[in-house]
Amino acid sequence: MSGKLIIISAPSGCGKSTIIHDLTQRGNIDMTFSVSATNRKPRAGEIDGVHYHFLSTGEFHDRIAAGDFLEYEEVYPGRFYGTLKSEINRALDAGRNIVLDIDVKGGINVKRLYGQRAISIFIKPPSVEELRRRLENRGTESREVIDERISRAEFELSLAPEFDTVVVNDNLEKAIDNTERVITGFITGK
Ligand code: ADP
Ligand code: 5GP
Repeated sequence: MSGKLIIISAPSGCGKSTIIHDLTQRGNIDMTFSVSATNRKPRAGEIDGVHYHFLSTGEFHDRIAAGDFLEYEEVYPGRFYGTLKSEINRALDAGRNIVLDIDVKGGINVKRLYGQRAISIFIKPPSVEELRRRLENRGTESREVIDERISRAEFELSLAPEFDTVVVNDNLEKAIDNTERVITGFITGK
């Protein structure tokens, strides 16, 4: 059986990583995680090669020049994130499904490239105010970076209709259930 792509996109702080992590813990869906490359610094607890491939800015640009990325975006000024072709091909060649935690523009681009072989899921916060609260509670970004992420979120939310499915992450367990249901339906074709 050939593998499929599961694209999970949302503004920063909407709960993509939490949902993907919890789905992986549940273990009901056979999927591997696409480890992106970035030039941002690791947060406490983040492991190189597990959460991201952490590159210097020079290394990131070398990989762009070498044509190693399926897609990449300068998601925030000076901060680059990209999906490596090798990550996707390794999974698909092995017949495995692969899940991508990727920004909204990147999600739309990958869906265009893979069409029916991909499902694109947009995770929506209950409100922008709640999104700000979650980013503040997460405590991983400075106020300045949170402001930057919120102003980008307002633009990204307008792109939700471009996705195959929108899941609202209000109650976390319900959001995980809904995401699991959508992915299972896509993978099994039911
Ligand atoms: P993203 O990966 O989209 O940037 P995270 O998964 O890191 O977002 O979630 C941002 C923060 O919000 C985290 O601290 C997470 O624990 C919290 N969070 C996620 N979902 C919910 C929810 N439904 N209710 C309250 N807090 C949530
Ligand atoms: P963070 O710094 O919070 O880990 O991620 C910031 C944003 O970059 C998130 O929206 C995340 O989904 C996005 N992102 C992570 N990896 C990729 C990638 O490979 N490509 C693109 N386009 N965005 C990514």
